Amino acid sequence: TFISFEGIDGSGKSTQARLLAEALRAEGHDVVLTREPGGSPGAEEIRRLVLEGAVDRWSPETEILLFTAARRDHLEKTIRPALDRGAIVITDRFADSTRIYQGMTRGDLRGMVDDLHARMIGTEPDLTLLIDIDPAVGLSRAVARAGSELRFEDMGQDMQVRMRSAFLDLAGVHPDRFAVIDGGRAPQDVAADVRSTLRARRGV
Ligand code: C5P
Repeated sequence: TFISFEGIDGSGKSTQARLLAEALRAEGHDVVLTREPGGSPGAEEIRRLVLEGAVDRWSPETEILLFTAARRDHLEKTIRPALDRGAIVITDRFADSTRIYQGMTRGDLRGMVDDLHARMIGTEPDLTLLIDIDPAVGLSRAVARAGSELRFEDMGQDMQVRMRSAFLDLAGVHPDRFAVIDGGRAPQDVAADVRSTLRARRGV
């Protein structure tokens, strides 16, 4: 079973990915918890290339190629081998993040993102948990976090508002794959909702 967590910065998705992994492990499941950009040694190197330095270090197109290269390596080296041995894979972000971040923050490049995904990645999660949060809450959480690699902080709340609605639109287009989870509650309450949603939607 392949599960992704998605959401805007400060949504709490990383905490929720970790809590779900811990809950499933406690139940005896073999779980691989991973993240993007990154998740394999090569993809973590690409993460540094993309996230360290100015937002305009790479052109928007080059950035999409780098994210796609990172995802391909993550898929080959981490995700596929784990799924093949029967593990549950939980990833903190996957292709939907590129659809939203690279697809719309620096111009409309959704066509390029979708073309590359179809050719080079193909795979989609069995379930995508979209942790939905009020952008004002998300931004204040994300900015408060020490050592954050936050890239869109200076783009302000307007961009966060646009990205939130783009995530919700994407969830509406793929209702079989997505579940929208209210991330505005206490972490343990969100985690309980996530756990029961996985059971209801995927029988796990
Ligand atoms: O999810 P995480 O906090 O690790 O993301 C690190 C940074 O990378 C965030 O600021 C996020 O907005 C950015 N990012 C991005 N494009 C992606 C995924 C994440 O710009 N496809």
